[in-house]
Amino acid sequence: MNLHYLTTSRNNPQFYTFRQNFVKGKKPELDDIQWEEIQNLGWLDFWHGEGHQLLEEKWHTLYPTFQEEIDIATSEEKANWQELWEEHSTTVSGQFWHIFSCAFENYQLRFLHSLESDDDEDDERIEDVGQTFDKLELENIETEIEEEINQLADDFTSDVDEEHQLKLMGLPTAFGTQRQHKARQETLQHIDSETSAIIMPHENKFLHLTKKNKWLKAKELKKKIRDITNIPQFMQDENPLRKYWYKRFSLFSRFDQGIRLDRESWFSVTPERIAKQTATRLACDLIVDAFCGCGGNAIQFAFTCQRVIAIDIDAQKLAMAKHNAKIYKVDHKIEFIHADFLQFAKSTRLKPNMVFLSPPWGGPEYLKHANFDIEQNLLPVGATELMNCARQLSSNVGFFLPRNSMMKQVIALSGAAGQQCEVEHNFLDTRMVAITAYYGKDLIKGDRNDEDDDDDEDDDDDEEDKESS
Ligand code: ADP
Repeated sequence: MNLHYLTTSRNNPQFYTFRQNFVKGKKPELDDIQWEEIQNLGWLDFWHGEGHQLLEEKWHTLYPTFQEEIDIATSEEKANWQELWEEHSTTVSGQFWHIFSCAFENYQLRFLHSLESDDDEDDERIEDVGQTFDKLELENIETEIEEEINQLADDFTSDVDEEHQLKLMGLPTAFGTQRQHKARQETLQHIDSETSAIIMPHENKFLHLTKKNKWLKAKELKKKIRDITNIPQFMQDENPLRKYWYKRFSLFSRFDQGIRLDRESWFSVTPERIAKQTATRLACDLIVDAFCGCGGNAIQFAFTCQRVIAIDIDAQKLAMAKHNAKIYKVDHKIEFIHADFLQFAKSTRLKPNMVFLSPPWGGPEYLKHANFDIEQNLLPVGATELMNCARQLSSNVGFFLPRNSMMKQVIALSGAAGQQCEVEHNFLDTRMVAITAYYGKDLIKGDRNDEDDDDDEDDDDDEEDKESS
């Protein structure tokens, strides 16, 4: 497998999701997969989620005086600004698109691989994939970190030929250029009409940095990320693990306000960007987070749901989750319950709208499998049993799973034959982090007729329940 490996910055990786619906009992036929549609939707998700905002942030960083100048600009100057803005949009979206396309190609490769679920089929592949993962995860850590830290500075200072801009605006150029303008990328047809209809960022209020502040900011950020004053002892002792420390702000953007994590959670907490996406998808009145850990998901659910029930079998983790929720000022929306989820599901009378499952994957060892068997390798029980427990509470379930999970098994969790699930592959830059599978009629935008049928069945079930109780 030949995967791309491109990053923006460790502190601020770009987030992409690619999603597909599957029907239980219907083998996914490769010819039927609508790659183009998936790619377009993935791009739109990114664009509306953060792409456009990033574009504007970069703009304000490059032209800190824009906001003041545009207010007093003559019509000729306004036209110049417009031209500059269009060029900026084309260049920056071209750069975004490049990373996005690599991520999409990785998605296709990984997806095709995940359909090959017969482990005996191909031992060589297992080794091959293991090596790829090792390569991605562990080699050249120091160089990788250094490059990414440097990238931060670039985020603040690159992509600008000031002389050119000044000329465009009819302003004096005597104070010269700062950096070479990077090669302009072609406008991409794929960027849809909404993207190309970007309006000038007059009305948005962004942080305005002076040029001096811009450099200071980049320097400060580099310093902040490099700062290892509070690095946990085990990371000090094991050098390759330091990369987790440098990623800390992508796990919790408020990390430096006192986030607490134990050793295990450093490797397993869901990165904030992904937790946010899942929380948007599972927004409802009442949600159960069945394996809350240190609270990465529960905190984000608290922003999109009225109430969150966060369960964990480990009291210390639960205490850390509570502490972390306080940092995000959402602890009042979360009820922390110290329990074994399997027991809880059997005994509770609670009827949440959604259940979120993020069970232990067995530590980083999960990457040693070419195709991760979610029936054999998840803890504390296999995926089907876990789903059965979750369904006792609600038919709407989000399931956070390893990126190398066997797709056939994931689809098989959909319930009865003919029912659907949606599988979302989550990427940070070109690196696939995990998959999230969604089940249940409130979560799947499937065939309306099927849904209506399901509704009828559910109604019948409800009636039976009422009668028997
Ligand atoms: P891994 O690193 O193997 O993925 P995690 O740390 O993500 O494991 O495990 C998720 C959380 O699930 C942990 O906080 C753990 O305490 C919790 N947990 C494990 N078993 C249960 C259970 N039966 N009920 C509730 N929580 C559990």
